Amino acid sequence: LRTPFERVPVPPEVDDVINLVLNRLPKIQGKTVKEREINRLLTYMNQVEKYKDFVSKFPRVEKLHPFYKESVEILADIDRVKICLFNTSRTADLAMKSLREGINTIKTKDEKEANAIMRRTFGRTSSILRKNRECTSFLIKVTVQLKRMMAVDPSLPTVIVAGAPNVGKSTLISKLTRAKPEIANYPFTTKDIHVGHMRMGERLIQFIDTPGILDRPNTERNQIELRSVNALKNLKGIVVFVFDVSPLSYYGIEDQYSLFKEVKELSEKRTIPVINKIDEKDDTYYNEVRARVENALEISADKDIGLEELKKEILKMLGTSLDRGLLDN
Ligand code: GDP
Repeated sequence: LRTPFERVPVPPEVDDVINLVLNRLPKIQGKTVKEREINRLLTYMNQVEKYKDFVSKFPRVEKLHPFYKESVEILADIDRVKICLFNTSRTADLAMKSLREGINTIKTKDEKEANAIMRRTFGRTSSILRKNRECTSFLIKVTVQLKRMMAVDPSLPTVIVAGAPNVGKSTLISKLTRAKPEIANYPFTTKDIHVGHMRMGERLIQFIDTPGILDRPNTERNQIELRSVNALKNLKGIVVFVFDVSPLSYYGIEDQYSLFKEVKELSEKRTIPVINKIDEKDDTYYNEVRARVENALEISADKDIGLEELKKEILKMLGTSLDRGLLDN
């Protein structure tokens, strides 16, 4: 899947660039002394180019899809990202200018001075880069995390599979989607998010589960998790909420039901309630859910019961929840 950060080339940290050039210097040769010293500065230029490239390929934050913008915001202060992009770009320009000047000076001066000029230029350029070291490092770290987290495509119609821990969310996703679900890393949560895709004719529908996000009462959510709920709001689609009615269910029906109400409210999405583990149902639990929740579908993700029905319901609800244009794409 294409993501806005996939193509951003991550440069080395400032100190690593300086050390890399420093280590290469003795190996760099030229036909004349002047040429050798110029080649050394050109080697430095090639490294500084990496920062130019990095900044220019970094997506414009304002133009990001709200889902990604929210994700960047969870990870880092957006203003700081913007300031550091600007500073890193400027620093790279200044470093290039310093290197160009060094090269030009070597050209015009006597051969005996060439090595001293190279050293001075090397020192000056390195201190320009070092002044912005923290900003550059911050951007590199943010980018590395952004590159890792992306397997969600906000342009696809999405089914968010929610429910308490252990109710069968990831089992359900792997049954409904053909390929093995991908694992996505998100700043939202320390847990892995499962992302799977179901192809219906021309349509591709994305399924994600929500460990650590929508699986416990709101009062227990911290600031970051609250923002992640916001990020999920930016995905177009519906929620499938899974109840577990097996005798071993982790949460009682009371808790599962309050989570259900909360998820419906927070996600602002149409929700299909599903009663899972029907193959092992506890009658009391089952009746409790039935008494509280209307139109719940009965399934067993594990034993493949009721899944075709559920698929049909998902398609029907997605079709009416999204504008046709999006689904027909
Ligand atoms: P998640 O934490 O909600 O993603 O739950 P998992 O998909 O990891 O499932 C938790 C446990 O429930 C696993 O041991 C599954 O094998 C089991 N499980 C999932 N679906 C069913 C089902 O339909 N019937 C039964 N009996 N067990 C199930």
